[in-house]
Amino acid sequence: MFDTLQDRLQSAFKNLRGKGRLSEADIDAVAREIRVALLDADVAVPVVREFIANVKERASGAEVSQALNPAQQVIKIVNDELVTILGGETRRIRYAKNPPTVIMLAGLQGAGKTTLAGKLALWLKEQGKSPMLVACDLQRPNAVTQLQVVGGQAGVSVFAPEPGNGVGDPVQVATAGLAEARRTLHDVVIVDTAGRLGIDAELMQQAADIRAAVDPDEVLFVIDAMIGQDAVVTAQAFLEGVDFTGVVLTKLDGDARGGAALSVRSITGRPIMFASTGEKLTDFETFHPDRMAGRILD
Ligand code: GDP
Repeated sequence: MFDTLQDRLQSAFKNLRGKGRLSEADIDAVAREIRVALLDADVAVPVVREFIANVKERASGAEVSQALNPAQQVIKIVNDELVTILGGETRRIRYAKNPPTVIMLAGLQGAGKTTLAGKLALWLKEQGKSPMLVACDLQRPNAVTQLQVVGGQAGVSVFAPEPGNGVGDPVQVATAGLAEARRTLHDVVIVDTAGRLGIDAELMQQAADIRAAVDPDEVLFVIDAMIGQDAVVTAQAFLEGVDFTGVVLTKLDGDARGGAALSVRSITGRPIMFASTGEKLTDFETFHPDRMAGRILD
């Protein structure tokens, strides 16, 4: 996903090789190249502005280091700043003191929520948990069946509305699912919700109503990393409409520019918790800001 950005940053650093000391002009030049590389990768403008200001400030004030030459120092500063915009620390799931832990998924249609529900369930199972999926996407034809399929692949229980019961009320399904999970002693409940192709007041209200009904421990906003600059607007809309405790980036295996992925933490103030990197249930990982920064600069 970050191939172009990676190449552009490498070529910016190349100009610093062999320099014994960095002048202000050198710093300005490398900062300009990094800035263009980030903007071309679709990183949001305010995020780029702060990133560059920090790099310049730290590069100008950099102590003469015995261990690192100027090029290495700049690379280290850029690495540190990438880790910062990606959230610094790895943020893990906060499990409820009294199970079940409720994890609600929200996001646009096609973001990868239903697939993620299966991935997360499988991952939780591998952590020794006993998850149950609850199908509250009653909007999209086949969403319930799709959840049953991924649940089957992950080998976990799926709570779904009875067929033939009309469209059904997603809030009631969520509440009934939670009660069923309590009764059957599942310790994590993953609530899949409906998405629309665009941001929509009714969708937000429905997600907010489900949230109010099940009082989740985590609300994960699922976002397709390939949607570019739209990611910022979408993330802000979900932040205001539903609010969320963490972000899951999907489709990081894509070849789009990916800057959205680098902006979403700074824009929303919410940590990126997981990354989805393909269509298979195992294409899923905990998001580590330092590892992601390392991958971009590798
Ligand atoms: P939902 O509408 O948010 O529930 O989205 P889905 O889970 O149905 O996913 C939409 C499409 O994206 C499906 O074709 C998935 O197979 C695909 N998909 C989901 N996650 C990923 C991912 O990380 N990488 C790739 N390449 N495709 C994905």
